[in-house]
Amino acid sequence: MQVIIFGPPGVGKGTLSDMIANKCKVPHISTGDIFRNEIKSGNSELLQYVEKGLLVPNSVVNKVIEKALKDEKYKNGFILDGYPRTIDQAEFLENALWKLKKNIDIVLNLTAPEEVIIERLAQRRMCSKCGALYNLVTMKPKKKDTCDNCGSPLIQRKDDEAETVKNRIRVYQQDTSPIIEYYKKKNLLADLDATKKPKEVFSSAAKIIESYKAKEKELQEQ
Ligand code: AMP
Repeated sequence: MQVIIFGPPGVGKGTLSDMIANKCKVPHISTGDIFRNEIKSGNSELLQYVEKGLLVPNSVVNKVIEKALKDEKYKNGFILDGYPRTIDQAEFLENALWKLKKNIDIVLNLTAPEEVIIERLAQRRMCSKCGALYNLVTMKPKKKDTCDNCGSPLIQRKDDEAETVKNRIRVYQQDTSPIIEYYKKKNLLADLDATKKPKEVFSSAAKIIESYKAKEKELQEQ
């Protein structure tokens, strides 16, 4: 099963992706995580985009995705988070999957008003080692500033600082949001109210996925 988790920065794509990945036993691909790991390993070229909240050029991102999709790990599906972010990427993805005789099954579109997103990004913290996500109000770590999973210090992402957040929202509205229409026309899009608690968002997402699977099964049995 191939699922895209779509939505503006800070809406909860990473958290929902992890929850679905755990439940469905399908791996999570996050282009943001891939780039942050590349930067950690010394790829300074990406820094100018990621830290400023600008899009990494399509040519670079598409290559990363094409390589990832061929990985054995994803042969039974994936939860894709942070990609596609432009129409060009959406078309590239369709073509790359077509070559692998696959397609996108569902696009879950997380929605929330801009003020909710800005507040969430201000409160978001990330583990400096394993990348686990927290929110200082709604998903606090058990011990202050410390990751529950690995005990490493929590940090605020540079691109979650207020000035960069404005940039990221502008980029989302201009370059990324047209993708909603793209997938709506293909009948793949399901909206999810992301102002709710993560567990509730997950429960709605799980229902959509279950109903999709049931329909697929029915079709196969016909
Ligand atoms: P994220 O963790 O998804 O918010 O991504 C963090 C940053 O990585 C973004 O602000 C971009 O600079 C870069 N990035 C991640 N995914 C993409 C993508 N699909 N296209 C272009 N840039 C991306």
